Amino acid sequence: MGATDWLNPIKGFGVTFHHMFKKPVTVNYPEEKRPTAPRFHGRHQLNRWPDGLEKCVGCELCAWACPADAIYVEGGDNTDSERYSPGERYGRVYQINYLRCILCGLCIEACPTRALTMTNEYELADSSRESLIYTKEMLLAPLGPGMEQPPHPMRLGESEEDYYRLGQSNG
Ligand code: SF4
Ligand code: SF4
Repeated sequence: MGATDWLNPIKGFGVTFHHMFKKPVTVNYPEEKRPTAPRFHGRHQLNRWPDGLEKCVGCELCAWACPADAIYVEGGDNTDSERYSPGERYGRVYQINYLRCILCGLCIEACPTRALTMTNEYELADSSRESLIYTKEMLLAPLGPGMEQPPHPMRLGESEEDYYRLGQSNG
């Protein structure tokens, strides 16, 4: 034992006292919530074109890219009388299993139409396994101003070219 070792407990309490008068870094969650970083990877969202049609074309690239096998997609064919997306096909069934998802973002990188993006929402806990399998209805973005619930015809321009040009500039 060294000559000054008896001082160690006092030094230890000194650290404690020092921190007692500092501003706490802990947050009183869930009463108090801090905003996430802008690019935080939270819950997914299936986006729409400015007329309300869905951007998802049911291609399944997101499901193939997912390392956790968390996405299930079944595509369907659009018809002239029943159109959900401006393409030939749309995502008839779309599910994300948040029991599996690790929020890595590979699926959104794989999506060719930017249909799939991630929000900043992180409160994904729930009390049953079933409720953590999010359906297409849960993931679809809400209808914004000027949007109409599909199915409906393409409303942005006369041709596909006009549709995508107008959609990109407004979407
Ligand atoms: S964020 Fe990652 S784990 Fe989650 S669904 Fe997308 S690819 Fe799969
Ligand atoms: S979200 Fe994107 S990648 Fe996934 S099925 Fe739809 S269009 Fe394809």
